[in-house]
Amino acid sequence: RNTQAPDYLEGLNEEQRDAVLTIDGPLLVLAGAGTGKTRVLTTRIAHIINTNRAWPSQILSVTFTNKAAREMKERIEKLVPRLDGMPWMGTFHSIGARILRANAGLVDLTSSFTILDTDDQIRLIKQLLDAADIDEKRWPAKLFASMMDGWKNKGLLPKDVSPADSGSYANGHGSKLYAAYQARLKALNAADFGDLLLECIRLFKEHPDVLAEYHRKFKYMLVDEYQDSNVAQYLWLRLLAQGKPASEANICVVGDDDQSIYGWRGAEVDNILRFEKDFPGAKVIKLERNYRSTSNILKAASNIIAFNENRLGKTLQTDVGETGELVSVTQVWDSEEEARTVGEQIEQYQRAGEPLNSIAILVRASFQMREFEERFITLGLNYRVIGGPRFYERKEIRDAIAYLRLVAQPADDLALDRIINVPKRGIGDSTVQILHSAARAANVPLLSAIRMLVETEELKPKQRSTLLNLVSQFDDWAFHAQTMKPFELVERILEESGYTDTLSADKSVESEGRKENLKELSRAMGDFDTLGGFLEHISLVMDRDNTDAADAVTIMTLHGSKGLEFNTVFLPGWEEGTFPSQRSMDESGRAGLEEERRLAYVGITRGRKRVRISAAQNRRIHGLWQSAMPSRFLDELPADAVEVTDTGSSYGGYGYGGGASSRFNKADPFESVYETPGWQRARAQQATRKSGGGGPMTIEGDLVARSVDLGNDRSAFASG
Ligand code: ATP
Ligand code: MG
Repeated sequence: RNTQAPDYLEGLNEEQRDAVLTIDGPLLVLAGAGTGKTRVLTTRIAHIINTNRAWPSQILSVTFTNKAAREMKERIEKLVPRLDGMPWMGTFHSIGARILRANAGLVDLTSSFTILDTDDQIRLIKQLLDAADIDEKRWPAKLFASMMDGWKNKGLLPKDVSPADSGSYANGHGSKLYAAYQARLKALNAADFGDLLLECIRLFKEHPDVLAEYHRKFKYMLVDEYQDSNVAQYLWLRLLAQGKPASEANICVVGDDDQSIYGWRGAEVDNILRFEKDFPGAKVIKLERNYRSTSNILKAASNIIAFNENRLGKTLQTDVGETGELVSVTQVWDSEEEARTVGEQIEQYQRAGEPLNSIAILVRASFQMREFEERFITLGLNYRVIGGPRFYERKEIRDAIAYLRLVAQPADDLALDRIINVPKRGIGDSTVQILHSAARAANVPLLSAIRMLVETEELKPKQRSTLLNLVSQFDDWAFHAQTMKPFELVERILEESGYTDTLSADKSVESEGRKENLKELSRAMGDFDTLGGFLEHISLVMDRDNTDAADAVTIMTLHGSKGLEFNTVFLPGWEEGTFPSQRSMDESGRAGLEEERRLAYVGITRGRKRVRISAAQNRRIHGLWQSAMPSRFLDELPADAVEVTDTGSSYGGYGYGGGASSRFNKADPFESVYETPGWQRARAQQATRKSGGGGPMTIEGDLVARSVDLGNDRSAFASG
């Protein structure tokens, strides 16, 4: 192995190096965006391996997305010349799945268990509601799914949930339903996403010997984006890391409280604060130098986040050594103009030689994506959408996967429910119900029930022969699955099941696209040697990654952008209601607003060189045009780091009518105290620069009028 002085340490600053070299005992790295937290983690792994402290397989590294895990893997391959295997790297869920598969028997599953998606989950809940005679219209399955999700995120098993915990849902039957749901999952040999951790926790608690094995196995543990871990993840980590002598609790977590943006999914910033209590003697290292963004960008981000009350408070200084361009704020007429303006900007950057890969558009909500997509198609600009309507969520793909799941796992009733009459084979609802009751009565999977029923007179001869044919096809496919490549298998299944023929006969616009997608599916499967491997992959991938190689603009949500960086970042839709989102404020009040503000902080700090914010004056929401207020976050930007521009097509500049003042007159409990709203000041400074005096006229006039309305500090405007 490599015995030379490790040059991966060279480029690090003193604190970073300290964090890499503090190998034994618990360590917390608490630091702002772009300070090298992720880089420290990667370098630590390289260092542990290079100094022979552990085999790669004895290192457990948790990242927030599968994409982040892949990137980390690539960097480690570069840092460690001769790598002997790979550390366990992945999301909490993917690692949880791996541990569960290895110990499936102990949690009433087999190692080939299916991981259910939301669609299956809802279908299953509906069946349970139906069986319990609970009116789905009154007590929606979706509502119950999110309640259960909440319990699972908190690490609560059915026995830990009391009837009161489900409130009035199904007249207090929520906890019973939860138990029934979990029992049904076991019968289906399936787990949902939450179970990947919950069942792991149960496994560790009920089988100390298994836990002890993992204690011995994982000598070093590392966690990125710790501020977004939820209770279940926290419990899971604590089980794995505690119970050893403190000096052997080699756990290193890195995070930034200002970037905690998954509170709505149960994440708890408190996990960071609790770390020092859980691991007495933990060392805490703070990193304060930002290597990513220009000082204007950092100034903008720091100014906004300072409006939050609930924070630990950290210093952040740029090390980039450049003031850089001003953060721009552009007011546009509507989202169409917004997309057009952004498109023009991108073309300019492209002409100046900037690769499209270094440009991102970060939206608050996915409905904002479509307008950009359409514009880019018109312009012929390459783009990729990450986290949008996902490939694997399309109907035809789900159908194909249902076939594959059933081949891999004959007890997967939900998969069978999905495709029993797809393509249409004349198996109607009433037949399906007969099958279901037979399965329930005999307590066997649906497929076994079919095998039994086709031997009896209970079904009509036509259906009997159809079902008999289907069962023998599945036997045949299962046989071939042992030798065939997964991509060959799926092609065969689509042929033989009649799926392809049905699509070909369908003359609708969509059917061509569907066929394309199915071809893409078999291409994607080409990378896998086993059906099991492929199914595991698709149940875990959260990001669409097949376009990674091409040079393309990235369109994604702010939530998905965590940890990433781009030269140029566009932040569209900074309007009240869109961003901050009305819903999060309605549901979570002040805490919701602060989380939105952290999201703004995350967005701005993704930019290395340029951040361009825009706000539309009009937006169509649910088909209705509404005039939109500029986001309050615009008012929280620092004047001296911001430049306000106008596309010229907006009437009289800002179009603040009575609406603007009504926003400010309304007693809004979350409203910050506006001293001298930064972007107005910037705007006013520009105006006075332009007009040489700031007289009340057109655009400038609107601004002055507004400042009067608000009763804000007018000296900023007069002093020009
Ligand atoms: P985030 O909070 O956004 O996840 P982070 O703290 O994880 O950010 P990194 O992504 O690790 O930060 O680093 C930000 C950028 O700074 C990366 O491009 C990284 O390569 C670079 N960087 C980190 N440390 C140094 C250093 N000591 N010298 C030069 N560049 C560095
Ligand atoms: Mg990071």
